[in-house]
Amino acid sequence: MDRKTFLKTSLAGAAALMAAPGTVISCASSKEEKKSSATPLRLSFQEGVTPGETLSEKLDFMESLGITGFEPGGKGLSGRVNEIQEALKGRDIQVSAICAGFDGFILAEDPAVKAQFDTTMRDIVRAAGELGSTGVIMVPVFNWQTPSLPHTLETRDFLCAQLHDLGEFALSCGTTVILEPLNRKEAFYMRLVSDAAAICRDAGSAGVKCMGDFWHMQEETSDYAAFMSAGSYLQHVHIASRGNRIMPGEDGDVDNYVDGFRALKELAYPHYVSFECGCRSEDRAATLTAAVNLLRTQWEQA
Ligand code: MG
Repeated sequence: MDRKTFLKTSLAGAAALMAAPGTVISCASSKEEKKSSATPLRLSFQEGVTPGETLSEKLDFMESLGITGFEPGGKGLSGRVNEIQEALKGRDIQVSAICAGFDGFILAEDPAVKAQFDTTMRDIVRAAGELGSTGVIMVPVFNWQTPSLPHTLETRDFLCAQLHDLGEFALSCGTTVILEPLNRKEAFYMRLVSDAAAICRDAGSAGVKCMGDFWHMQEETSDYAAFMSAGSYLQHVHIASRGNRIMPGEDGDVDNYVDGFRALKELAYPHYVSFECGCRSEDRAATLTAAVNLLRTQWEQA
């Protein structure tokens, strides 16, 4: 019996019992079911996804849809802390996560490029802490970033040690760093949510977290298993349509997130699901509205 059939049968049964006064109805729902069904879907928009000329207009639009998370890019973030704090004042919107924006990369072979990463990433992490962000998203190395350290056990140990220090720094700023696994075309180094979660564990700092991006999760064999494998390391989620990385729903039936949402509900996932996607339609506002409705419906179904 699938869940839909089960629910239909249960509802029919409940209705029949309600029609019989005096019948004792036992409550069969477990604590876990109550917990997962009570988990709200917290949606977030990246700054570039949101229509509007100014930050204020963008936030107004988000509020009109009940969106409570805002994800800016990390580039120049330290110079924008006041602007963002002022714009968020009096609104029911928080900074969800900060999307990258640093120079260099952590697995650079060239010490000067690695040093660029260390300096600029720490500037962004400091600003992220001031903004109350859940973390700063980072990728250890994209395929196009060369020369990089070789993909060896020693490099993984080095990465974990470096992340440990960065994670502790992020904690001292009141935030975290969030590892984002990508698909093999973009970053062969880290492709699976479970792999990112294992690096979080081995880094040994509560300031090192990971995320899943429904677009890149084409690498996974199961959305549900991917999120469950991350458990409490899961700090952020990105979402897009699953065929062309446009708005959820613009690719039709393939845009199904129910399996992943079921895991997020079972985990009582407390963070955000953030739009990182393009838009095929010329009417971005209408398409975003439809996408939000689609995700809320699928969250209910999960
Ligand atoms: Mg992403």
